[in-house]
Amino acid sequence: MLMNMTRKKFIKNCCLYCGAGVFYLAGGSLFLSSCSSREEAVEEPDLWRPAYAALAAEGKFDDRVEQIYDIFNKCELCPRSCGVNRNTGEEGFCRAPGQAVVYSHQPHFGEELPLTGSRGSGTIFFSNCNLRCVFCQNYPIAHEGWGREISDRELAEMMLDLQQKGCHNINLVTPTHVLPNIVNATRIAHQNGLTLPLCYNTSGYERTEVVGLLDGIVDIYLPDLKFMDGAEAERYNLAEAYDYPQKAQESITKMHRLVGDIVKDENGVALSGLMVRNLVMPNRVAGTEEFVRWVAENLSKDTYVNIMSQYRVEFKAFEYEEIARAITSEEFVEAMEWAKEAGLTNLDKRSLAQLDIHRRNVD
Ligand code: SF4
Repeated sequence: MLMNMTRKKFIKNCCLYCGAGVFYLAGGSLFLSSCSSREEAVEEPDLWRPAYAALAAEGKFDDRVEQIYDIFNKCELCPRSCGVNRNTGEEGFCRAPGQAVVYSHQPHFGEELPLTGSRGSGTIFFSNCNLRCVFCQNYPIAHEGWGREISDRELAEMMLDLQQKGCHNINLVTPTHVLPNIVNATRIAHQNGLTLPLCYNTSGYERTEVVGLLDGIVDIYLPDLKFMDGAEAERYNLAEAYDYPQKAQESITKMHRLVGDIVKDENGVALSGLMVRNLVMPNRVAGTEEFVRWVAENLSKDTYVNIMSQYRVEFKAFEYEEIARAITSEEFVEAMEWAKEAGLTNLDKRSLAQLDIHRRNVD
C-alpha cells in the first residue's frame, strides 16, 4: 500500500496518524516525523512522487491543461486582468506573447539551501513580468523581455535537461504570465520521464483562483511578499499595484493551505511546502516588521522565511530617493530581530549567517 502512496498523501497521513507521537508505522517500516516542526519531517525517498504524477495517474492532467489554457483567451492569469486574447497574439500589461519566452535554464546554486542541495536548483528564467517593480533586480529579462520564444515541447525538453543534469527541482522563475505553457510542458515532460518537484518562484502578485488551479501540480511555492503597504506598492511599480499586498497575502495563504510548511528529504532537500521571501529595502519600504508578524499570525511560525539582504540600486531605483541606496547593517539586523521577536522558527540559514556579519558591523 505504501509504495502506491503519493508524497502528498504520505505527508497528510503522517499528520493524521502521528498525533502527539512522532512515529509513523506502515508496511513494516518505521518513519520519523514531527508535528511540532515540519522542518524535521523525513520521508522515505523511494516513496517520493511529484504532485503532478498523481494528477496524471488520475487521468486529470489533460483537463487541467485545457482549463488553464482557456484563460489565455481572455487573459486573467493575474490581478491585472487585462482581458486580452493571448492565443491570437494580443499582449497585456506583461507584454508576454502566447508562447513562453525563456532567458536561460541552468542549475542554480544561489537559491535557498533546501532548493539548491548539492546538485543545484533547475532554474528556468521566464522573460517579462506582470508586476514590474522600478527596482527590479533582473530588469533586462523582466522589463525588456530578453530571451527566446519557445514551444511548450521545447520547455518540456528544458525540464528534462535539468533533470538529466541532476538538479533537485524545476525552479520556475516569474511563472505567472506563462502558466498555461508551464502546465502543458510539465504534462509533456512527465510523459517523458520528469519526476522532479515544481517550484513556483513568484513575485506573489497572483489571483487565488489561478493558484487553486495549481493544486496537484506544484509542490513547492516560493513567493515574495515585497510590500505590506499599498501606497509603497503603488509608488514602486511602473503601473500602480496598490492591491499588491492584499493579492499577495491572499495568494500566499492559499499556497500554504495547498502544501503546508516545508518538508525535506533526509538530505535536507525540499520536497514540498511553502517558502516565503522578503527583500529588506532601505527606509523600511518593504515593511519587514509587518511582514514577519503577518507570517507568524496568518501562516505558521514554522514557515520557512528568507529575509534577504541583497538589495541593490537597479533599473530606475536611483530616481527614488528613499530606495536609491543599499541597506545598512542596522536595517538588516533590525529586520532579523523582528523575525525572531515574531517567533519565527525556520529562518533561512544564509540570512542567519548574514545577520552575524551585519551584527559585527553594528557592534
Ligand atoms: S498575465 Fe499578462 S496579459 Fe494576463 S492578466 Fe496578467 S499582465 Fe495581463
